[in-house]
Amino acid sequence: MNIYNAYLLIMRVLKFGGTSVGSAEKIQHVAEIINDGVPKIVVLSAMAGTTNFLEEIVKLLYKAKNDEAVAKINELKKQYETVVNELFIKVEFKKKGIELIDHHFQYMHSFTLDSFTIYEERALLAQGELISSAFLHYHLQEAGVNSALIPALNFMRIDKSLEPDDFYIKQNLQREIEQHKGVQLFVTQGYICRNAYGEIDNLKRGGSDYSASLIGAAAGSDEIQIWTDISGFHNNDPRYVEKTVSLKELSFDEAAELAYFGAKILHPSSVLPAKMANIPVRLKNTMKPEDEGTIIKDTFVQGEIKAVAAKDGITAIKIKSGRMLLAYGFLRQVFEIFERYQTPIDMITTSEIAVSVTIDDRKNLDDILADLRKYANVEVDENQSIICIVGNFLAEEKGIVAKVMTALKEVPIRMVSYGGSMHNISVLVNTSEKIKALKLLNENLFNL
Ligand code: ADP
Ligand code: ASP
Ligand code: MG
Repeated sequence: MNIYNAYLLIMRVLKFGGTSVGSAEKIQHVAEIINDGVPKIVVLSAMAGTTNFLEEIVKLLYKAKNDEAVAKINELKKQYETVVNELFIKVEFKKKGIELIDHHFQYMHSFTLDSFTIYEERALLAQGELISSAFLHYHLQEAGVNSALIPALNFMRIDKSLEPDDFYIKQNLQREIEQHKGVQLFVTQGYICRNAYGEIDNLKRGGSDYSASLIGAAAGSDEIQIWTDISGFHNNDPRYVEKTVSLKELSFDEAAELAYFGAKILHPSSVLPAKMANIPVRLKNTMKPEDEGTIIKDTFVQGEIKAVAAKDGITAIKIKSGRMLLAYGFLRQVFEIFERYQTPIDMITTSEIAVSVTIDDRKNLDDILADLRKYANVEVDENQSIICIVGNFLAEEKGIVAKVMTALKEVPIRMVSYGGSMHNISVLVNTSEKIKALKLLNENLFNL
């Protein structure tokens, strides 16, 4: 149920990524797209490159290279001064823009005066979204469009397990909206939030997509739109493969698998809130709004291989024990070790004498290995990639695995996983083989 029934407004959510707001001209273009009279909440990323830049400043500050950090902050400020000059026409708004960036950059400079902490890191990383959203808001004001800027730090919150606090988000988003009677266009920040202790935090890199779906679910939206630099979800990773095509439709489950296994177009967690609330997610190209893009919804087209994606930075761990499958309790012991170190397992394959698992979070790898070695021989392979082939395989059950394996016959494969769901075949390859594998799958599965 839509929480804004009091106004009879259904708030659509539109999220614009970094490249979509990457220059003054692009911000003006976004303003044109959103100013169509449909009530909406617009979620913005930082301007393209800014979060990377801020991460570089963070690294310098941790290394106590404060002079270099100051120089970088000044460099970024210069870029923003140019944007202000190009974005605003009236003197009054140019002044407002300059005051805005003076305020944010003074704050950034305050972190260079003393030793640097994790709290300051997160506050620093939040500056990109705070500035881009204020730019769009001021631009709308200058153009005479009735809109309101609602601070994400007033309603987006994660709990102690770093999961979104849905109840808090819903209540506080509603309160923010209600403060602006008569307004139908709201602008807010993606990515940033507060944590359980009230500190500034974030939803991890690429997290603005996640913000958008959490906001869409909280507001009972009719649609969540993710506007980016490509016309929808492609069948393969366009960063590595030349001939890829946009997909008209994906199911929530297919999109979630692909996003989790490396399709950068969507943050891995962003599908679930939309799926739970059954809100369609539409992917659109900001530069080509007329292109249809992709709709992600509760739907299934049978018997099709839809798309492939690849996730890097995977570590494979082979755990070898004399008798494994017959020794009941062995797998439990193995899984308990990963649970103890809060490390999720992505893939798993078993044989009588060994089990292989993959992880992408290496934070506690040494401790995990030390514990595993108490029970078994352990071998580790680093720099692996999971290639995930997604679709609805029911109708093609007979040939599907053979097709994938034939396509990959020239690629050494470390692990294969099929049957966990009817939507996914995963293979593990050395990262050096990834691009070749993606290209071969493109040629052989999609005839592209
Ligand atoms: P934004 O800044 O708008 O969030 P991202 O760079 O995070 O944009 O995501 C869009 C990019 O995702 C595309 O430019 C493309 O290079 C990459 N990408 C990776 N896999 C896919 C895919 N399967 N379909 C479309 N884009 C993909
Ligand atoms: N600005 C953040 C990033 O670059 C969040 C996002 O763009 O989604 O990761
Ligand atoms: Mg993104």
